[in-house]
Amino acid sequence: MRMWGVNPKMLCNQHLLGEHLEMHMFVGAINKGKNIQGYIDKNLVNVQKISMRHTELVKEMESRGMHHNSTLIAHYSLLKGTINIENNIKDLSDRCEKCRERIKQSGSGAVAARNAHNVEVASSNLVSPNYFNGGYSSIG
Ligand SMILES: [Zn+2]
Ligand SMILES: [Zn+2]
Repeated sequence: MRMWGVNPKMLCNQHLLGEHLEMHMFVGAINKGKNIQGYIDKNLVNVQKISMRHTELVKEMESRGMHHNSTLIAHYSLLKGTINIENNIKDLSDRCEKCRERIKQSGSGAVAARNAHNVEVASSNLVSPNYFNGGYSSIG
């Protein structure tokens, strides 16, 4: 599982849907109290950005005519983690020809990705604040 964190427009359909699914998987794992420290240590996810990232990915999915029915229900609050977007752009273009094309089209990749993250994302409509107090005990 991995949060690419790049501008969603850089992702081919497969990687867009893949990252979206993985945001749900991260949240599912965290909500079940599974230990995802390994992912955090490898810079594969920034937990505090999962909800915002999910919103970005859904927007891009919808702009490509894909449907989104699933609700992301996040209970986490304590975990952090970081990702390296420049590395991720490189990895994506190394491993996926379609992403490579999209990354090329979106110009200077790293800059675009940074800008994407500076865009204010309205706090997620998908996550009701009540869910944060869902009675889940602390993680670990
Ligand atoms: Zn979703
Ligand atoms: Zn791809």
